[in-house]
Amino acid sequence: MVLLTSSLTVASLGLAGCGTPAAQSGGQGGSADQGVLTETLVLASFYPLVWLTEQVAGPDITVGSLTLPGAEPHDTELTPAQVAQLGRADLVVTLSGLQPAVDQAIATTKPSRVVDAAQIVFIDADPHFWLDPSQLALIAQPVAEHLSQVFPDSTTDFSERANQLMDDLYQLDREFAQGLTDLSGAAMVTTHAAFGYLAQRYGLTAISIAGIDPEQEPSPARLRQVRQEIEGLGIKAVFSESPGADKLATALANEIGAQAVRLNPLETKPDSGDYLTTMRANLETLRTNLVPPA
Ligand SMILES: [Zn+2]
Repeated sequence: MVLLTSSLTVASLGLAGCGTPAAQSGGQGGSADQGVLTETLVLASFYPLVWLTEQVAGPDITVGSLTLPGAEPHDTELTPAQVAQLGRADLVVTLSGLQPAVDQAIATTKPSRVVDAAQIVFIDADPHFWLDPSQLALIAQPVAEHLSQVFPDSTTDFSERANQLMDDLYQLDREFAQGLTDLSGAAMVTTHAAFGYLAQRYGLTAISIAGIDPEQEPSPARLRQVRQEIEGLGIKAVFSESPGADKLATALANEIGAQAVRLNPLETKPDSGDYLTTMRANLETLRTNLVPPA
């Protein structure tokens, strides 16, 4: 009996990962459907929430991503296999309002447990709350509580990991606050409007060329407006958040005698490191390239 119980536990933990490759690759030959009905599925909608859920869940639980590797979360499309997976999920961690296809699939398939970051953090029309680590920290305990409902035996582990994660995120928050003290009021010119909460938290003035959705093309009028706003500020860098935005950043930078510099908005998994290391790299980039107000 003991053997049976433990092998069932191992089986369900092992199967937790079954859906993951399909979720990440868009469904390889229907492999997601070969699992048994009792498989445990923990899904998160895009990188910062996948990372956070992984930190709380620990190494034995696989967290599937609904956004394919390298894909831009703003315009995620789901495959039929992913929609079916959502319906079977034991827990989905998401941010409503960012990915309409995910919102719609959740409304249709009604997964048993959903943690919606938009119900927990403080946001307006701008979804990019995760670039303020003190806001990302708010999701840790709700994720731990919901994981505990799915895996009640691991409640203490989830709670401890959530506390550790919150410590790490508040530490990062202090590093940003300290690192940017001397730059209070500095203008931070970006292509995509992803850094509004970060700027607000640490006393910077965010000026973005394009809108919240990186696919939006800025109008010539908007470009003229940005040039006027930053005139005379001695701007050293125009920040680009993706290869697709480099051209726009370079064009404006050339005009004003500045450089185009990459910042990572962490919408997708970084090529190396994780949320914490990438945010620290962003902090260094800001410290090097921002100019304190005169
Ligand atoms: Zn974005």
